Amino acid sequence: MPASGTSSIVDSEVVGPLPSYDNRPLATGSAAEVYATLGSCPDGLLHSEAAERLKRFGANTLAKSQGKSWLVKFASNFTHLMAILLWAAGLVGFLAHMPQLGVAIWLVNIVNGSFSFWQEYRAEKAAEALKQLLPARVTVRRQGELRSVPAEELVPGDVMLLEEGDRVSADARIVKAVELRVNQSVLTGESAPVEKDARPALYGSRPGPQSHNVVLAGTTVECGHGEAVVFATGMKTEFGKIASLTQSVIEEPSPLQKEMGRVTRIITALSTGIGIAFFLLAVLVAQVDPGHGFVFALGMIVAFVPEGMVPAVTLSLAMGVQRMARRNALVKRLSAVETLGCTSVILTDKTGTLTKNEMTVRELWVARRKLTVTGVGYAPEGAILSQDAHGHAPVDLTTDSDLCEVLIACVLCNNARFSPTNPGASQWRVLGDPTEGALRVLARKGRLDEDLISQAFPRLRELPFSPDRKRMTTVHQRRDTRVAFVKGAVRETLLLCNRIRLGGNEVVLSEQMRQEILTANDEFAKSGLRVLAVAERELPAWLAGWLPENIECDLVFLGLVGMMDPPHPEVAEAVEKCQAAGIRVVMITGDYGLTAESIARRVGIVRAARARIMTGDELDSLDDSRLQAALSEEIIFARTTPAQKLRIVTAFQKAGYIVAVTGDGVNDAPALRKADIGVAMGGIGTDVAKESADMILLDDNFASIVNAVEEGRTVYANIRRFAIYVFNSNMAEAVPFVALLFSRGAIPLPLTLMQVLSVDLGTDMVPAIALGAEPPEPGVMQRPPRSLKEPLLNWPVLARALLWYGAIESIAAMSSYFYLNWQNGWPTIPLAAEGSVAYRMATTMTLAGIVATQVGAVLCCRSDHASIFSLGLLTNRLVLLGIFVEVSLLGLLIYAPPLQSIFNTAPLAASDLAFAFAWAPAIVVCDELRKWCIRRRNGRLARS
Ligand code: ATP
Repeated sequence: MPASGTSSIVDSEVVGPLPSYDNRPLATGSAAEVYATLGSCPDGLLHSEAAERLKRFGANTLAKSQGKSWLVKFASNFTHLMAILLWAAGLVGFLAHMPQLGVAIWLVNIVNGSFSFWQEYRAEKAAEALKQLLPARVTVRRQGELRSVPAEELVPGDVMLLEEGDRVSADARIVKAVELRVNQSVLTGESAPVEKDARPALYGSRPGPQSHNVVLAGTTVECGHGEAVVFATGMKTEFGKIASLTQSVIEEPSPLQKEMGRVTRIITALSTGIGIAFFLLAVLVAQVDPGHGFVFALGMIVAFVPEGMVPAVTLSLAMGVQRMARRNALVKRLSAVETLGCTSVILTDKTGTLTKNEMTVRELWVARRKLTVTGVGYAPEGAILSQDAHGHAPVDLTTDSDLCEVLIACVLCNNARFSPTNPGASQWRVLGDPTEGALRVLARKGRLDEDLISQAFPRLRELPFSPDRKRMTTVHQRRDTRVAFVKGAVRETLLLCNRIRLGGNEVVLSEQMRQEILTANDEFAKSGLRVLAVAERELPAWLAGWLPENIECDLVFLGLVGMMDPPHPEVAEAVEKCQAAGIRVVMITGDYGLTAESIARRVGIVRAARARIMTGDELDSLDDSRLQAALSEEIIFARTTPAQKLRIVTAFQKAGYIVAVTGDGVNDAPALRKADIGVAMGGIGTDVAKESADMILLDDNFASIVNAVEEGRTVYANIRRFAIYVFNSNMAEAVPFVALLFSRGAIPLPLTLMQVLSVDLGTDMVPAIALGAEPPEPGVMQRPPRSLKEPLLNWPVLARALLWYGAIESIAAMSSYFYLNWQNGWPTIPLAAEGSVAYRMATTMTLAGIVATQVGAVLCCRSDHASIFSLGLLTNRLVLLGIFVEVSLLGLLIYAPPLQSIFNTAPLAASDLAFAFAWAPAIVVCDELRKWCIRRRNGRLARS
């Protein structure tokens, strides 16, 4: 009977520190006493009671640590190197009796800092929202039913199920345990797993890591399984008490952010250097007075410092992370986004990642006969058919004791349960391992009464499945003997058999029969089936101890079970995408080589007529250099253990690959950590695997890794686009100062400092950010991966920004300036005198020329070689918004009187504006020509 609402727990017992008197039943009590103390029972709490306790004891969460206050974060945006430089520049403006300039530079600094803070805030909020996508869940028994609930809804008295790889979410007393080992390193620092069991302790002490019958929140189940009754949640757990110490994790800046910091520092130093050089040249060569020289120097510094760069990079990364989440890839660290873009090999496992992990038994091999199983999915509808001269006929279990024994073994050596998705629904789901679920469905198709079997043969012991042994065994009482049922990998299990069951009798397993079994196994495997061998052994009465080596030997072979696990439909296309993108895909599986090869061929991972299948044993026999040599071939790793997976990851890294590796089990954790990108499965993955990974796939699908790689490449490309765009205008802003200098003042300064600022921190801002939101470019997955060492701003990128776009923009700016002067009578009339309306109109034209070319450039920067017309103008609407804002701001700068006086502008005639804006399509046409040449050259290279 489920626990009634009248629980016997007193608040202080559970929510306060446990007094020694009350600890006793928890530590020394039998399971029944523990249930009684906590007001629960083996069927768990009633739903209403659980809800009531949740109100009473609160959610099972830890109080949030304070972290850095928002005020400190806000202030830090005004105190970094670049901000300090701008504060100083403003001050110089004041000292040089140019308060307008001083105010403007400071204002710019304030706007820039506030903007950075806003981006930081948004990125943090986005990260918090992502966490909600993958809430921790716990399987509990309530009102007699198993259900998965969010960990924060756990309450004292809940009966919690513990499975291998689970992270324990509350402190609980163990009431059932099978080979349970727990890693308590979070609490004790000791990484060796500790054995736990359900035995009452001899004396009552405070429950802690040393208690053998208690599991504590924050620890993880290394192996085995069990059940435990919760006695403390949230801040009352041992973990909660030390949580405030461990919560303040400092997030390391990503390599890209570090690189950006480096670039910004270099550029800041460089522009300061250029500023100083200009000052000296202006004063010494152009004989400008030092006051004006100062202003020019400031101009150069302000023109070159990429003010919005760092926040825009963080924003691009955060947006990439959000886009990936929408495509089912949850990235835990921003830095992972960049590494993803460099991935050159994906080491993937098979079951669940390439395949759906929805097993259906299709074929059996029992007593030298092949049998076929009908029906699809987990619905227990279908039959087991034998083939005779008259075709297929259902098998009669009452007369086929050999098949009956196989099905009994399938039911007993099994921990899965299956149930309809909803009461009365026709869809079925499996709780537990899908392989075992499929075996239960098989038994139902054979019309076997599972409950009756389980009652008739009570389980005495279990040797849980391990990927190293590749099998599982359970021991049962059968009348007055004990019998062991074993199921596992075929070749490995067959080695332990010396007899076979035929026609109800045990017969010596001859060499010929072994070959027959292996041939059947290979036949099943070649058609992509996952094959398990089933065996049994009546244990001699004298046998003591429950070690696998004592029990799993001298077995009687019962049969083979071949199950289908179809590949995800999207995988083949994703594999093809990888191949086009220069990314290798290599399968590492615990499954049999031929099964692995069949699936690998089906999804296109293997294409060569003969692929090399390297088993774990062969791998162990190779030294590192021979393993390295083997990596260059088309290779599949089969029958591997998690430790071997780690060796393979290391070998690929040594060969210079950037490795992404998938994993789901506890034992995969070292490989996941070692890889450049560890990818855990959100569905079938254990909590331990998820914690060790850099990325979690919400849909367990290989295709999502490839989507994430695409996004990773896109983010990097977008940051580059942003950088190019920002640097374009820097060149055009510097040229007017050069013109002034080298004409020795004959050409009055074509662009004032305030106008430089209006571009860098006004008109350029929104279009630049819009480039950070560019969707993946069509060819992005048709290029080889980028090297991790390649800097963000390499020479081709800088050359394109400064010498191509920069040059066109400079010509646009200067020609606009001269055009207006020519309209006013130049060259017979000298260039407009400084301060006059004509001069202000001329500088306004320079400004308009720069802004107009930046309008065209934002379209050009969307791709480095694809035509803007093939991308489609509407595919990044933010760019259109950016252009709208850019042009509107220019309009305000030119026509709004208050801004005219601040920025030295004057209204322009429509024909003048038309001249400046003709440069927008001009730069697009020039760049389309450049892109066309690149595409032609690439096409020629590809053909040769
Ligand atoms: P992958 O590594 O690609 O996910 P896998 O699921 O086959 O493939 P493992 O889980 O390591 O890899 O299993 C290795 C082998 O152990 C399987 O091929 C199968 O023969 C056997 N096996 C898997 N699950 C069970 C189980 N529940 N009971 C007994 N044997 C099993």
